Amino acid sequence: MMCLWIQNRLLPYRCGELPSSITTMIRRHLRSCKHCQAAMNALETAWSTGRSLIASNAEPPVHLDRKVMDVIRVLPAPRDDNNNIAKMTRILAAVFLLLLGGILVIVAIRLHMLRP
Ligand SMILES: [Zn+2]
Repeated sequence: MMCLWIQNRLLPYRCGELPSSITTMIRRHLRSCKHCQAAMNALETAWSTGRSLIASNAEPPVHLDRKVMDVIRVLPAPRDDNNNIAKMTRILAAVFLLLLGGILVIVAIRLHMLRP
Protein backbone atom coordinates (compact mmCIF):
# COMPACT_ATOMS: atom_id res chain seq x y z
CA MET A 1 0.00 0.00 0.00
CA MET A 2 2.75 2.42 0.94
CA CYS A 3 4.75 1.48 -2.17
CA LEU A 4 1.80 2.22 -4.47
CA TRP A 5 1.28 5.57 -2.76
CA ILE A 6 4.97 6.37 -3.15
CA GLN A 7 5.18 5.21 -6.76
CA ASN A 8 2.15 7.29 -7.74
CA ARG A 9 4.07 10.35 -6.57
CA LEU A 10 7.49 9.62 -8.06
CA LEU A 11 7.01 11.90 -11.07
CA PRO A 12 5.98 14.97 -9.07
CA TYR A 13 8.74 14.02 -6.61
CA ARG A 14 11.24 13.98 -9.50
CA CYS A 15 9.93 17.35 -10.70
CA GLY A 16 10.13 18.87 -7.22
CA GLU A 17 6.41 19.60 -7.10
CA LEU A 18 5.60 18.02 -3.74
CA PRO A 19 5.52 19.64 -0.32
CA SER A 20 8.71 19.18 1.67
CA SER A 21 7.07 16.84 4.19
CA ILE A 22 6.04 14.41 1.43
CA THR A 23 9.39 14.79 -0.32
CA THR A 24 11.15 13.80 2.89
CA MET A 25 8.82 10.83 3.36
CA ILE A 26 9.46 9.59 -0.18
CA ARG A 27 13.22 10.09 0.14
CA ARG A 28 13.27 8.01 3.33
CA HIS A 29 11.17 5.29 1.75
CA LEU A 30 13.38 5.14 -1.34
CA ARG A 31 16.42 4.49 0.86
CA SER A 32 14.90 1.30 2.23
CA CYS A 33 12.59 -0.07 -0.48
CA LYS A 34 14.08 -1.90 -3.46
CA HIS A 35 10.75 -1.94 -5.33
CA CYS A 36 10.36 1.81 -5.22
CA GLN A 37 14.06 2.30 -5.97
CA ALA A 38 13.55 0.21 -9.13
CA ALA A 39 10.50 2.30 -10.05
CA MET A 40 12.51 5.47 -9.47
CA ASN A 41 15.37 4.14 -11.60
CA ALA A 42 12.93 3.31 -14.41
CA LEU A 43 11.49 6.81 -14.16
CA GLU A 44 15.00 8.32 -14.30
CA THR A 45 15.80 6.25 -17.39
CA ALA A 46 12.60 7.32 -19.11
CA TRP A 47 13.28 10.91 -18.08
CA SER A 48 16.78 10.81 -19.58
CA THR A 49 15.54 9.19 -22.78
CA GLY A 50 12.82 11.77 -23.15
CA ARG A 51 15.23 14.63 -22.62
CA SER A 52 17.67 13.23 -25.19
CA LEU A 53 14.85 12.88 -27.75
CA ILE A 54 13.74 16.45 -27.17
CA ALA A 55 17.30 17.65 -27.53
CA SER A 56 17.88 15.81 -30.82
CA ASN A 57 17.19 17.27 -34.23
CA ALA A 58 15.23 14.25 -35.40
CA GLU A 59 13.07 14.96 -38.42
CA PRO A 60 9.77 13.20 -39.08
CA PRO A 61 9.70 10.74 -41.99
CA VAL A 62 9.23 12.41 -45.37
CA HIS A 63 5.74 11.05 -46.11
CA LEU A 64 4.40 11.08 -42.55
CA ASP A 65 1.71 13.68 -43.24
CA ARG A 66 0.46 11.79 -46.30
CA LYS A 67 0.33 8.52 -44.33
CA VAL A 68 -1.62 10.18 -41.51
CA MET A 69 -4.09 11.65 -43.99
CA ASP A 70 -4.48 8.25 -45.69
CA VAL A 71 -5.46 6.75 -42.34
CA ILE A 72 -7.87 9.60 -41.58
CA ARG A 73 -9.59 9.29 -44.99
CA VAL A 74 -10.55 5.65 -44.41
CA LEU A 75 -12.02 6.27 -40.97
CA PRO A 76 -15.81 5.95 -40.82
CA ALA A 77 -17.74 9.19 -41.03
CA PRO A 78 -18.75 10.62 -37.68
CA ARG A 79 -22.26 9.75 -36.60
CA ASP A 80 -24.79 12.52 -36.49
CA ASP A 81 -25.78 12.02 -32.85
CA ASN A 82 -27.78 15.26 -32.73
CA ASN A 83 -30.00 13.98 -35.53
CA ASN A 84 -30.52 10.66 -33.70
CA ILE A 85 -31.41 12.47 -30.48
CA ALA A 86 -33.96 14.61 -32.35
CA LYS A 87 -35.53 11.46 -33.88
CA MET A 88 -35.76 9.75 -30.48
CA THR A 89 -37.29 12.88 -28.96
CA ARG A 90 -39.99 12.97 -31.67
CA ILE A 91 -40.72 9.25 -31.23
CA LEU A 92 -41.00 9.61 -27.45
CA ALA A 93 -43.26 12.65 -27.85
CA ALA A 94 -45.51 10.68 -30.24
CA VAL A 95 -45.68 7.72 -27.83
CA PHE A 96 -46.47 10.06 -24.96
CA LEU A 97 -49.26 11.76 -26.93
CA LEU A 98 -50.74 8.38 -27.91
CA LEU A 99 -50.72 7.22 -24.27
CA LEU A 100 -52.23 10.51 -23.13
CA GLY A 101 -54.95 10.25 -25.79
CA GLY A 102 -55.71 6.67 -24.74
CA ILE A 103 -55.97 7.66 -21.09
CA LEU A 104 -58.29 10.55 -21.97
CA VAL A 105 -60.53 8.21 -24.00
CA ILE A 106 -60.71 5.75 -21.09
CA VAL A 107 -61.52 8.54 -18.64
CA ALA A 108 -64.19 9.92 -20.98
CA ILE A 109 -65.79 6.46 -21.36
CA ARG A 110 -65.83 5.88 -17.59
CA LEU A 111 -67.30 9.33 -16.97
CA HIS A 112 -69.94 8.63 -19.60
CA MET A 113 -70.73 5.26 -17.95
CA LEU A 114 -71.13 6.87 -14.52
CA ARG A 115 -73.90 9.20 -15.73
CA PRO A 116 -77.26 8.25 -14.44
ZN1 LIG B 1 8.27 0.92 -1.69
